[in-house]
Amino acid sequence: MQTRSTCPYCGVGCGVIIESDGDQITGVRGDPDHPANFGRLCTKGSTLHLTASAAVTMQTRLLRPMRRAARGAAPEAVGWGDALDTAAGKFAQVIREHGPDAVGFYVSGQLLTEDYYVFNKLAKGLIGTNNIDTNSRLCMSSAVAGYKKTLGADAPPACYDDFQHTQCLFIAGSNTAWAHPILFRRIEDAKAANPGMKIIVADPRRTDTCEIADLHLALQPGTDVMLFHGMLHLMLWEGWTDAAYIAAHTSGFDALKAKVRDCTPDRVAQVCGIAKEDLLEAARLFATSAATLSLYCQGLNQSSSGTAKNAALVNLHLATGQIGKQGAGPFSLTGQPNAMGGREVGGLANLLSAHRDLGNAQHRAEVAALWGVPSVPEKPGKTAVEMFQAAADGEIRALWIACTNPAQSMPDQATVRRALQRCEFVVVQEAFSTTATCDYADLLLPATTWGEKDGTVTNSERRISRVRNAVARPGETRDDWVIANDFARRLERQLGRAGTLFPYADAESVWNEHRESTRGRDLDITGMSYAMLDAAPQQWPLREGDATGRARLYEDGVFPTPDGRARFADVAYKPVAEAREARYPFSLNTGRLRDQWHGMSRTGTLGRLFGHVPEPTVQMHPQDMARRQLKDGELVHVTSKRGSILLPVSASTDLGLSQAFVAMHWGGEYLSGRSSTGELLAGVNALTSPAFCPDSKQPELKHAAVKILKAEMPWSLLAVGWLPQDKILESREALRELMGAFPFASCVPFGDSGALQDGSPQRSGVLFRAAAYEAPPDAMLARIEALLGLDGHDSLRYADRKHGQRRTARLVRDGQDARLEAFLLGGDTRAEAWIKTLLQERLPAQSYGRQLLKPGAAAPAGVATRGKVVCSCFGVSQTAIADELATASGDEGQRLAALQGALKCGTNCGSCLPELKRMVRAPAMPALVLQP
Ligand code: SF4
Repeated sequence: MQTRSTCPYCGVGCGVIIESDGDQITGVRGDPDHPANFGRLCTKGSTLHLTASAAVTMQTRLLRPMRRAARGAAPEAVGWGDALDTAAGKFAQVIREHGPDAVGFYVSGQLLTEDYYVFNKLAKGLIGTNNIDTNSRLCMSSAVAGYKKTLGADAPPACYDDFQHTQCLFIAGSNTAWAHPILFRRIEDAKAANPGMKIIVADPRRTDTCEIADLHLALQPGTDVMLFHGMLHLMLWEGWTDAAYIAAHTSGFDALKAKVRDCTPDRVAQVCGIAKEDLLEAARLFATSAATLSLYCQGLNQSSSGTAKNAALVNLHLATGQIGKQGAGPFSLTGQPNAMGGREVGGLANLLSAHRDLGNAQHRAEVAALWGVPSVPEKPGKTAVEMFQAAADGEIRALWIACTNPAQSMPDQATVRRALQRCEFVVVQEAFSTTATCDYADLLLPATTWGEKDGTVTNSERRISRVRNAVARPGETRDDWVIANDFARRLERQLGRAGTLFPYADAESVWNEHRESTRGRDLDITGMSYAMLDAAPQQWPLREGDATGRARLYEDGVFPTPDGRARFADVAYKPVAEAREARYPFSLNTGRLRDQWHGMSRTGTLGRLFGHVPEPTVQMHPQDMARRQLKDGELVHVTSKRGSILLPVSASTDLGLSQAFVAMHWGGEYLSGRSSTGELLAGVNALTSPAFCPDSKQPELKHAAVKILKAEMPWSLLAVGWLPQDKILESREALRELMGAFPFASCVPFGDSGALQDGSPQRSGVLFRAAAYEAPPDAMLARIEALLGLDGHDSLRYADRKHGQRRTARLVRDGQDARLEAFLLGGDTRAEAWIKTLLQERLPAQSYGRQLLKPGAAAPAGVATRGKVVCSCFGVSQTAIADELATASGDEGQRLAALQGALKCGTNCGSCLPELKRMVRAPAMPALVLQP
């Protein structure tokens, strides 16, 4: 059976075709007819079906409602009626005793539009609070505020097709190659078709996106407004602005001109840390190209000046007339699959349905009339950071969290966890039982997820696509909108209201009401229907009577402002909120990995997606490491004013001096430990800052001032084992419980990527790493061994309690030889590289029995590390690529073709292509052989 649907990961919104046998999802491929991807999928999208296997579902999914009798107690299964009555009773009690603003809803950009709509109506229409916000606040609220401030409406004016028409692509604060891989494939195609097209990347890091750039502006963190103002200063000086466009279609240019007067090249070069020649070249290309398109994402949004950064970039488009035509315009990329849909229904604390504003009395009256309620509240609700602060302060007493994991993803985890503990009642509505936030729930409500639910999402280019269920809902799970709807009906009764607000029979009836709310608005979709969307995804606006939606906006130069003119924003440059200082000299940046998604509740179920970046590290520039006498792999304390974590350091010349980077995915589920005072250390967001943009309220996840100090931890542990598919995630969860016993611990899945050469089935396992000041009790190590299958009589053992040394290895017979199935190195892990290679490469291991048990044993001759996996589709390692390139000849294109011909890397999803091209360009490196 085949079902057309949409990928649930990023805002590209790729169409997928789900294959199923009726009960089980069996495969996924790109939808060749979907206009976002034309059949392509990236590493994440192409492995979606594996995340929905029966083995994964049984081990990770929340399948029935659960209730805790008391905090800290194990949750117990309850019926749906019981669960929802409990929730309605508790929320009604809090509302009666403390008012509607004593409750809050924290939802998600991964919900469908229909889910969002019901939650929004529940909070604002029934309860009478605007305390509903979403994890999209962490993702794109600065883009919303920036668009509204300048163009008058929250509407990205460009579309994906513009990549083919642009002559200058200006990518700011976006690692498109990793965060929006299928768009990057389209950019690569556009560049190949039009080699004259120029690409500029403005990013403090040299990311994979820079591989395609003609110019990389490695600006200092947070200095984007100064860069954009400096570009405008030069455009004015050189006469590159479009006076006719400015006069006909904009207002406020004189004030902006005055603002950028002192943003001279000298000043910009000094503040941003870039060359004046590069600044001039960027300004020239932007202003004088026939069509300039800018793409931007979290580098601009996740900032205490997020709105100013967005607006300053839009200023450049308005000043040069680079908007409202093919291949031009300011194009914000949404991180999440339905951040756009959430905005459309007004599912944020400061918005109302169909892009209406909470602060506008007429808008409030329109929404109240639509819903049939006397009024909707005027007072702005608490945004994400404010909501958890209010809960930590006791102001919000009941929280409903749906489809998101704030105990991983919110900044300043100490406050978030205090909030979750202090809240009288916490409901977590989730598909996965493994998220950190589930640990704080009084009530857990099991939700359906990708492949099981029905509705719509909107991607970055305003295109609405259908999401469809391919298989039956597992266990007792229910669709998110159904859960919210059933709760709302019960709450109506509890509050003594007439039960008429939530009459929906299915997702389509919810969507039809949302559609009606858009009538006459900028995003009018009154000409769309589910039937039309079933035939093909559509872009908004699509008004009644229109045959198709609009690809581009503002082609007539008329903007949705009172006078029809776009507004220049004379925003000021402000540095990052938390200045670096002598005690905290590094700027910590966070961002995505290529093969992972957010808190990894889904991608983290697949060992093969850990081949590219197997374990958490903090990246630093090699010179900063040398100055601190740090070597690759050594443990460091990374400390901000809010918290401290331990993790290994890795060298990277992609970063500037005094910068550090930790991937945003590493939460307490994968990286943890305990401080010397017993405090639990909980992932990267223990460090990040809650400082937010005053307009968009989006927090500054792209910068925190930190110090990085070597951790002297003499005892170390590495335990790795292949495990049966139906035990991996269970074992990982059990190992996760042990992480808090160590000052540092990480626990990740690992596995084969791609098809194996010998045709044997792909395997997966778990890797547990820890460090401590002294050896832990034997019972702890025995427990770890048991969870990795090292507790049987067939394991080889060595233990020296006095010196804290312990070795365990399990070899299994394989023909005439034996292969390593699992091992534990306790006390001294210097031999880990070659032992891990034996295990991962399934090398004959019979003759290494003694060496496996000897502390610090050197590598046997000729055992080469494979390095990380570069191509996840075909499991091609760094070493294999380097070996192949050592003999390849010709120019870069020919060497790449030879490499792909020999190893197939980069010939499927293409996510590794930028890295392959970098390796092709780099000087030849010898294969790394571990010397005996
Ligand atoms: Fe999914 Fe990848 Fe497409 Fe994003 S680019 S929607 S993650 S397949």
